[in-house]
Order: sequence, then C-alpha cells, then structure tokens
Amino acid sequence: MTDCLFCKIVKGEIPSESIYEDEQVLAFNDINAQAPTHILIIPKKHITTLNDLEDEDVEVAGRLMKVAANLAKEKGFADAGYRVVMNCNQDGGQAVYHIHLHLLAGRRLALPLG
Ligand code: 5GP
Ligand code: ZN
Repeated sequence: MTDCLFCKIVKGEIPSESIYEDEQVLAFNDINAQAPTHILIIPKKHITTLNDLEDEDVEVAGRLMKVAANLAKEKGFADAGYRVVMNCNQDGGQAVYHIHLHLLAGRRLALPLG
C-alpha cells in the first residue's frame, strides 16, 4: 500500500519512535499519547481493518497480542495492568486504515469503555 501512513512508517519513509521490531511486527509510540504509555503495535503487512483479516493473518494477529504482553512485562506495568484496543471502521473510531493494537498503560484507565 503506497498511500498508507503506517506502511510508510514500516518502510521508514515517515519517522517514528520505534519500541520493538521483528520480522512481522513493528511497535512505536503513538504521536498523540492518551496515557503515560501509548504504544501502537502493527503488522508490517498491510491489513486495512480487522474485517480484512484472512486465515493466513491469524498468526500475526496473535503476535500483536504477544508483543503487547512482552512489552508490558519489559516496561514493568504487567502486574499493575494495561489496556489493549483495536478500533474498527467509523463507529469503532478507526482513523488509520492499517490495523494497529493500542497498548495503553501508566494510569488507571477510564471505564466504561465507549
Ligand atoms: P485509530 O483511531 O485509527 O485507532 O488510531 C490511530 C492512532 O494513530 C491515533 O492514536 C493517532 O494518534 C496515531 N497516529 C496518527 N498519525 C500518526 C503518526 O504519524 N505517527 C504516529 N506515531 N502515530 C500516529
Ligand atoms: Zn498499510
């Protein structure tokens, strides 16, 4: 996807504060943090929305979760707690159409969701 913001971040065409990278996944700080820690975890492969997830993408989708848990442990907030969120389409509040897991931590997060 040539016109996708997060594909451009994957390719290094747009700078980001990288937190973690492997063959399949990239994690970087959100530019407009909503909590003391706000990291976006994305597949390097372009997947537009959660609705577009194919069976072949199940592994990388699970990997997003595992990277979130690994980062929570590494950064020391696993026990205190954190939130992971993926927004889908307009009603879900999705603004960037390349799937991403939000990892939020560092304060008591508001409830109820939505
Ligand atoms: P969404 O609303 O699609 O779930 O979340 C998109 C997120 O991407 C927002 O939290 C927004 O702050 C973040 N974002 C948008 N543009 C950029 C950017 O250029 N760099 C980074 N690091 N984050 C961005
Ligand atoms: Zn993309």
